[in-house]
Amino acid sequence: MINELLTIKPRDYKSDIKPIWCTGCGHFSVLNAITKAAAACGLAKDDTVLVSGIGCSSRLPAYIDSYGFHGVHGRGLAVAQGLKVARPDLTVIAIGGDGDGFFIGGNHFMHACRRNVNITYIAMDNEVYGMTKGQASPTSPRDWTGSKLTPHGPGARPFKPAAMALASGAPWIARGYSGNSNQIARLLAEALAFPGFSFLHVLSQCITFCPQQTDWKAIVTDFEQEPLSRADEAAALLLSEDGFKTGLLYYEPRSIWPSEAAPTENAKLVLDDLASAYQR
Ligand code: SF4
Ligand code: MG
Repeated sequence: MINELLTIKPRDYKSDIKPIWCTGCGHFSVLNAITKAAAACGLAKDDTVLVSGIGCSSRLPAYIDSYGFHGVHGRGLAVAQGLKVARPDLTVIAIGGDGDGFFIGGNHFMHACRRNVNITYIAMDNEVYGMTKGQASPTSPRDWTGSKLTPHGPGARPFKPAAMALASGAPWIARGYSGNSNQIARLLAEALAFPGFSFLHVLSQCITFCPQQTDWKAIVTDFEQEPLSRADEAAALLLSEDGFKTGLLYYEPRSIWPSEAAPTENAKLVLDDLASAYQR
């Protein structure tokens, strides 16, 4: 088993299913980063689960050769947390897009941040509902006129995912960019090692409905200082920055819920109920 882990390559984590994303979609870069981080961390496929909601990015679990759950819109985090509580021995990664995670699943996002279950959440943000053909999402710029449904722009201020995560209690917050897959892989490896809820916000371009996002490569910058470890300092940064700083932004470990030791009594009860329901 140890020899197997030492020789496993990123490509070994790819499943036989070919992604159906558009050519040039940023999500390919995130997929590659996940396989790189998985190889670097020696993740055991049988002990790793990717959970997603609905949307282009939420197709990702099918493309990884591990366990996966392609769930309901905006509910990936609920499933991921429940799974981790019941099976603390597993590595659980939740995945989704900006519409899935910040609008339909926004409530779950806030409460996952404050609950601090030991999982990693990768939000692949392209500021648009891609799968349903390009409607404005919670992170679309207020003057974005690319959708026929909002020809004068959505009008509302865009949601700030990192600031929201901080305000809700997330102890680890980072941002990556699909133009730099190695950086995403490094951040993800750190996120997986972090004991608690780690939120990895990835700017992942939608080349089909937002071709202007190719300009992001000229805008993103590296957050070159040590991650902030005080919430008030992080709030000042995250409320004032342009949303294009990448790197580990905030790091403040705190007690996770529930404790790592074993499934909680509650989880055991739930599992017992499920087991007896299936026997009926
Ligand atoms: Fe990617 Fe956009 Fe195509 Fe969806 S519609 S696969 S997000 S490029
Ligand atoms: Mg989107």
